[in-house]
Parts: sequence; C-alpha cells; structure tokens
Amino acid sequence: MMETEKGPSCHVFKNLSGVAGLTHGVFTRHGGVSAPPFASLNAAWNIGDSHEAVRENLSRIGKALGVDVLVAAPQVHGDTIHVLDAESLARTEDRFPVRVTPPGDALVTDLPGVGLMIKVADCQAIFLVDPVKRVIANVHSGWRGSVGALACKAVGVMRERFGCRPEDMLAAIGPSLGPCCAEFKNYRDELPPEFWDFQVRPRYFDFWAISRHQLVQAGLRLENIEDAQRCTVCEKGEFFSYRGEGTMGRLAAVVAWER
Ligand SMILES: [Zn+2]
Repeated sequence: MMETEKGPSCHVFKNLSGVAGLTHGVFTRHGGVSAPPFASLNAAWNIGDSHEAVRENLSRIGKALGVDVLVAAPQVHGDTIHVLDAESLARTEDRFPVRVTPPGDALVTDLPGVGLMIKVADCQAIFLVDPVKRVIANVHSGWRGSVGALACKAVGVMRERFGCRPEDMLAAIGPSLGPCCAEFKNYRDELPPEFWDFQVRPRYFDFWAISRHQLVQAGLRLENIEDAQRCTVCEKGEFFSYRGEGTMGRLAAVVAWER
C-alpha cells in the first residue's frame, strides 16, 4: 500500500514553546522513509532497520528543528547521565547525522545547536529546561527509569553541575504508555510500594502522575510540569508502541538550544 507522506510532524509542549531560543518536539512515526514495521520515521539504529533509512530520518528530524547536530546514547534502562560540553561532545562517536555517547539514559547540556535525542516507544521522554541558567536535559524513562527516579537524578546533575534551581525549571513528559494501558501484572515484584497508590484500577498505573509526583519531590513547581496526555498504545497509528506492536521503530524526542 502506498502512503502519501508529509514531512515530519511532532508534539510540542505549551510550556516549552514560550522559552526564547529553545526548540523541541516529540516526533510522530510519520514523515520518514523507513519501510514497515519501522514505517516511517524510525530514529533508532540496530533494531533491524536499514541504516540509510535511519540516516535520512535523522537528517529530516535535525532539519525540522534546525539543530547543527543530534546527540544520542545507546539506551539501556540504566541510570547513567551524560553531560555534553565541548570536550565530551568531541569524544562522541560521529555517526552522521547523529553523534553517539557511551551507553546511558539521560543527556544534559548548555551548548547551543546540540539536539539531545531520546528514542522511545511507550517509554517517557522527559524534557527538563532551565530558562534561567539555559540548561536542558532529556531523560529516557521507562518503568525502570521511574523506579530509579532518573528524571530526579538529572535534576540533581543540573543543580550540581550548573547551579540550576529546580523552582526555575520546566518539565515536559512526552507521549508514552498511559494509565489506560499500563497494566503491570507483576507489580508487587516490579514496582515499589510507594507507586501502588498510583493505580487507577487494579494493576493499571498512572506513570504520568508518578513522574509529576517525583519531579515535585525534586523541587519543581507542579504548574511548571506539562504532560502530553497522549498514550502511545492507544495512538499507535500516530506513534510507535512497544506494547501495541512488538516489532517497531522508535520515536525521536529532541530538545535543543538554538544557535
Ligand atoms: Zn492507552
């Protein structure tokens, strides 16, 4: 079946749209060149898609946001956070049009023109933006990331390394597994008791609310946290979904300071 593809489109957040000099988006699955099951805007290498297709997709993503370079990590559901400065950026592996850090699940920078990219399919990409110190982070947070409070650790890195104040920070939680679809049959083994209050019905959890709660615990103001309220399983025509599909591409979530 032929599909007429328009250019890449993305979900943008109201709270981040007001920040001068910031560009961001969580891209949909449309507007790329990959063939099924990766159709069409797959952002991930090494999941079976053609490298030429991924390269073209990433070029389109970078161009759509006007960033000089995209930086991504091999994501491992761990808690390693990479800070990109001129020196560490130079050490990343050049896999044009993306530069690749060592494995990790969160990226932080204050460099302009550097697009921090997280790849997701049901996991949350959480953008953290400090408009005062001009520092950004992009966090890959699946349920293991939630259990490890990785977004809060990224807030900690922004505080320690850049002197950011959590009360200045904005956060945005991307399209991801919603409370409608987040069934955890083994939750007593997988999730800590403090998450059990976030059940919306037996065995179904609201991880959007868990992230909001954790970020408030880390010092952010609730009114500065926006979540997309879009479930990738329910909207698998628009987004890639691990639970909804099995074999699939990965969505690109990118945040950057303009040069
Ligand atoms: Zn859903």
